[in-house]
Amino acid sequence: MVAQTYFFKRALVGETWQQNIRVVVNSQGLFSEIKADTSYERHDTQLDCIIPTMPNCHSHVFQRCMAGLTEFKTSDNDSFWSWRDLMYQYANQIDSEQLYHIAKYTYSEMLEAGYTSACEFHYIHRELGDKNNTENMSLAIIKAAHEVGIVLSLLPVLYTQAHIDGTKLSNLQQRFYLTTDEYISLYKTLEKQLCPEQNMGICFHSLRAVSLEQMQKVLKSLDKGQPIHIHIAEQQVEVTQIQQHTQLRPVEYLHQNFEVNKNWCLIHATHLNEQEVKQITLSGAVAGICPLTEANLGDGIFPLPEFLQHKGQLAIGSDSHILINPFQEIQMLEYSQRLHKQQRVIASTSNNPHVGTLLWTKAVAGGAQACQLAVNGMQIGQQANWISLDTKHPSLVNLSGEKCLDSVIFANNQIPYQSYLKGKKIIPMHQSIKENYKNTLKSLRN
Ligand SMILES: [Zn+2]
Repeated sequence: MVAQTYFFKRALVGETWQQNIRVVVNSQGLFSEIKADTSYERHDTQLDCIIPTMPNCHSHVFQRCMAGLTEFKTSDNDSFWSWRDLMYQYANQIDSEQLYHIAKYTYSEMLEAGYTSACEFHYIHRELGDKNNTENMSLAIIKAAHEVGIVLSLLPVLYTQAHIDGTKLSNLQQRFYLTTDEYISLYKTLEKQLCPEQNMGICFHSLRAVSLEQMQKVLKSLDKGQPIHIHIAEQQVEVTQIQQHTQLRPVEYLHQNFEVNKNWCLIHATHLNEQEVKQITLSGAVAGICPLTEANLGDGIFPLPEFLQHKGQLAIGSDSHILINPFQEIQMLEYSQRLHKQQRVIASTSNNPHVGTLLWTKAVAGGAQACQLAVNGMQIGQQANWISLDTKHPSLVNLSGEKCLDSVIFANNQIPYQSYLKGKKIIPMHQSIKENYKNTLKSLRN
């Protein structure tokens, strides 16, 4: 691939909108030059309104096949926990070949929607019908991501117990189980199987599913500064359980026992008190928020204004993939606050009054930190990924960049946009990916 040049009329570069930007994309698909306030040169491809693509900080890719299928009553008190029973039924039917087809389809959807990287929080380790094989399921994800082109951060999950009191995993959780030795060995094996541009991180399911000793042992053996992810405080029930068992809230307990730093990503930092907000923001860790999934599962509301006040790092993830759309994730993140506070325009500062620009910028930087891949927006050395908003659409006539982005997030989900990966347009997924996904769903829904 030879170097390509582009000229953007306006683009969100770092935290600010800049004008007349010329970029060079080198043969590896990275930005090698970015210059604002310059002029168009012959052969430059011209685009109008550009924002960076979004890193997806949290994915359970297999859950895409059950999106929309749990929206009916099963008891008087449906919750995350009754949804989880249905999720386990799917988790126990999928083999590595089916996972490969589901992942190819879902990662293609992500690319088209504007996500160009994904942290895959992967816990179905044991192959269906071959429980001694713990690699196949991960290899299916590695291959699917590589073939469609999304940049993968694979996070194999350690999941050893059902509760913080050490209760054994249920029959429906057996495919997730690895001993710490098995985990360390699988991690080292998978590291050798990664494709170019992919990386790996350490991952603990949650404080209820892994003991402190197990976490310490894994970190001692594997921690080299790579990402470390954990589900931290998604449900009030788990906060209460951890408090009863340790006398501390989850974030307090984590910080008391580990040197939490910028490598950590705390997924679903939903239930936080003031002290915990301070602890996360001081440690430099990322709060991984999944607004649409958290709304769908009735998890609770992340304390966004307090977190922003303390200049915390946040990232967004599509998690259960109930919808795959980073614009709608940002919309939900802001709207949940408005409903809660009975106010408007929550995510805003005097320097950056536009909600769309503020949240998009923060989520790109936090997402890049959470995966440690070269996906931190428009900067030299980062992947040349971007989204071109269609300013020919009537809704975007005569608007500034800030207002175009706000409009796509809040005002019109029909505005088309085109994602680019390494300087090239992302084309709609191949028909065969759709067909294979359809056939997989047919067999799973039999
Ligand atoms: Zn999750």
